[in-house]
Amino acid sequence: MDWFKHEKIGDRIISITDLGNVRMFLIEGDERCCLVDLGFGIGNIRKYIEENITQKPVFALVTHCHIDHVNACALYDECYLNEKDWNQYERAYNVERRKYDEFKNHPILKDVPIEFYDPRREKPFLNVVDGQVFDLGGVTLKVIEVPGHSPGSIVVLIPELRTCIYGDACGRRLGLAGDAAAPVSVYLKGLMNLKQYDGQYDRILRNHNALECPLDMLDNVIECCQQILAGTDDKYPVLRGGKWVLAAKQVDENQRRVDGKQGNIFYREDKRC
Ligand SMILES: [Zn+2]
Repeated sequence: MDWFKHEKIGDRIISITDLGNVRMFLIEGDERCCLVDLGFGIGNIRKYIEENITQKPVFALVTHCHIDHVNACALYDECYLNEKDWNQYERAYNVERRKYDEFKNHPILKDVPIEFYDPRREKPFLNVVDGQVFDLGGVTLKVIEVPGHSPGSIVVLIPELRTCIYGDACGRRLGLAGDAAAPVSVYLKGLMNLKQYDGQYDRILRNHNALECPLDMLDNVIECCQQILAGTDDKYPVLRGGKWVLAAKQVDENQRRVDGKQGNIFYREDKRC
């Protein structure tokens, strides 16, 4: 079984996808490497990297504690996650929930036996805070907190490569729908924190769907927040994970904005505050 695929997508950056088709990014420094995000945790990503990509030491940095980003964390002793997301790990790891609920309609993951799931992390995570910098040798990573999609969501800026990894913090159909998601006003503050770094990057990498997105995505999502708070957004009903939520901007049957712009918020009514 081929659990992973990888592709060099730029100087010092390798994109790795797992069976669930969610991306992780390996950033290669002169001395060590950082794996940004850990996917669904099915198959051994650590072994794959050691055998196919690099022998340098690797540590892990997780953008947020959701099932498709955190679940190989037991494979890396040195694994960083913002402490505001720590209490979501049990839910993200829960093997039965993944196998029999989240993956039940997934074309590939539904058939993977539980024995191939990575083990539960027993060690505590290491915390990261806004502004923290990791030096990999010749390249650095800067942590930018953007709470919203989850309380501890972060974005990772790589100044030397003029690249920013958005995780799920800002996207085509950003979800403020889970119980742990922040209200829109808190999310807007997080986006303004990211906005300060405009001009320091001209490439945005995404974990889901297209690899890259246009630079105006952030401004579009900020505008969505402002309109939701003013009550002037489209409030367009959409189904997300089997539940009805509201899209700030009207979408087509593929959940793309009908006005052709990228960046939207799918939110639950009670997050409008
Ligand atoms: Zn997520």
